[in-house]
Amino acid sequence: MALLQISEPGMSAAPHQHRLAVGIDLGTTNSLVATVKSGSAVCLPDEKGRKTLPSVVRYGSGGEIEVGADALKAQKIDPQNTVSSAKRLIGRTLADLQQASHYLPYRFGENERVIELHTRQGAKTPIEVSAEILKTLKNRAEASLGGALVGAVITVPAYFDDAQRQATKDAARLAGLNVLRLLNEPTAAAIAYGLDNASEGTFVVYDLGGGTFDVSVLQLTKGLFEVKATGGNSALGGDDFDHRLFCHLLEQNKLSQLNEQDSQLLLALTRSAKEALTTETSTAVRATLSDGKIVDTVITRQEFHNLTQHLVLKTIEPVKQALKDAGISKADVNGVIMVGGSTRMLHVQQTVGTFFGQTPLNNLNPDEVVALGAAMQADVLAGNKADGEWLLLDVTPLSLGLETYGGLAEKVIPRNSTLPTSRAQEFTTFKDGQTAMTIHVVQGERELVSDCRSLAKFTLRGIPPMAAGAARIRVTFQVDADGLLSVSAQEQSTGVQAQIEVKPSYGLDDDTITQMLKDGMSNAAEDMAARARAEAAVEAESLLGAIEAALALDSDLLSADELSAIQADTAALQSRLQNGNAEEIRAAVSALGRSTDNFAAKRMNRNIKRALAGQSVDNI
Ligand code: AMP
Repeated sequence: MALLQISEPGMSAAPHQHRLAVGIDLGTTNSLVATVKSGSAVCLPDEKGRKTLPSVVRYGSGGEIEVGADALKAQKIDPQNTVSSAKRLIGRTLADLQQASHYLPYRFGENERVIELHTRQGAKTPIEVSAEILKTLKNRAEASLGGALVGAVITVPAYFDDAQRQATKDAARLAGLNVLRLLNEPTAAAIAYGLDNASEGTFVVYDLGGGTFDVSVLQLTKGLFEVKATGGNSALGGDDFDHRLFCHLLEQNKLSQLNEQDSQLLLALTRSAKEALTTETSTAVRATLSDGKIVDTVITRQEFHNLTQHLVLKTIEPVKQALKDAGISKADVNGVIMVGGSTRMLHVQQTVGTFFGQTPLNNLNPDEVVALGAAMQADVLAGNKADGEWLLLDVTPLSLGLETYGGLAEKVIPRNSTLPTSRAQEFTTFKDGQTAMTIHVVQGERELVSDCRSLAKFTLRGIPPMAAGAARIRVTFQVDADGLLSVSAQEQSTGVQAQIEVKPSYGLDDDTITQMLKDGMSNAAEDMAARARAEAAVEAESLLGAIEAALALDSDLLSADELSAIQADTAALQSRLQNGNAEEIRAAVSALGRSTDNFAAKRMNRNIKRALAGQSVDNI
């Protein structure tokens, strides 16, 4: 297993040369920046003492760009020039968005390669929007720390694919930040807990935020962090709890249609009530609606828990799946790390605690824990830890592989492989004299290429002409510590090679990944049948090709009966190839094999005679 050494040789700094480095939690709703000061990680506040920066950017009419709370305030009156949730758009294309369920109030450009939002300051990509957020946090950190940063560790969801990671890096570059490392969010949380509590063992990171749920299984040993498996639900979070309570209020107060203003008001009060119930056993929601109607409802914590317990239980399924993927049972889990504001809810803590049979770890602020872990990692990468040599391993969320003959996907790096990783596999040519090979890189769990996601294609040329199956093409997949993939192919006898950095033209969203995983499992039997058929078809085509070539050269060896038997079996196999299943194709291949056995023997004799003709015994 490849391990990544994080602290680079020669980068260890003397104590007086402390290098300024930060960790940035670039969130969908809020972002944070943290650093290590006097040995402990702290979030850095702005000049008004606010730690969280709303991830919202507004392009103003006077050419100004507002980021954070002011932009958020203006969002309702200026939605088309105020961009929020850029993280949901980064590294994606318009085609991806058409499948998304969220309504977005923006005017999108026609660019098919990258999303563009038309603002009064021109077209802006989510990369540029994210860069504004990162720039604001960079300025905040430099003002607070009194110097230029050597770099930053930026966190991304474990599910982010290549395009999304690359786009996040591009945003950092635009913001003038040196990216020391992209770090998976759950890993950052584990770092915060691992280092603070010097824990070891298998840990589950349970991250329930405002709109998403993520779960990861991590292996921690001293100085070693390994993500074993990840999972989640990208459409489940605190907002769903708000919504359930909101509906309850409507029922209780016999309200049906609310106008936009009343809805917003009631939703905000609902959220405050939900948050209050974490510390209070009951709370009241009181409001006067625009038509004068009064809302006045007391909600007890117990009532709230009863109303929303099904949502908490919904998070347990992905937890079970992640444990299964990691190959462990819940009894193997040494600790459960709670991340995200919604894990403050007591029934969440209780349910998770009961499921695992232990009290979850929650002594760090669940909103800050990712930024704090990123800051600790940045401190190590910047060389501030003389003894710091931590190893950090993450996993690939989906299998990576390539297309082989017959439209089959051959997995080279299986899902949940530890990063960084590099694996090579040898492939061969299908046709005699084949001099080029197209390498089609795909991602997914299914057996057929058509059911997987196409990532990239490139061609290896200059393969010396050889008999089918004789060339040896070594294809190497390499995924670096940031999760970025490169693929190279080399023909072994000549050394000719081709390679590609895989930058998919579009990203995979969490839903697609979840769907692809689900499909991979639920279609396993169907896939196996399709795979068996495709394999039988490849064998059949290869046999038909060989027989055609042999008949062209040596059909004079056959009697009329033998020839017509071969022709009849050839026709039968061709017809099976059109509409038979794997078994039928294999049966026809065997029949043709039997009827050509004698022909093969006669050809071999002729070839031996030809080879020996004119040679002396010594030469043989
Ligand atoms: P995050 O995305 O991690 O910032 O989490 C935001 C979510 O946490 C929102 O749905 C908040 O309503 C929720 N949240 C924050 N504080 C509390 C609290 N004390 N009790 C319940 N939910 C909370």
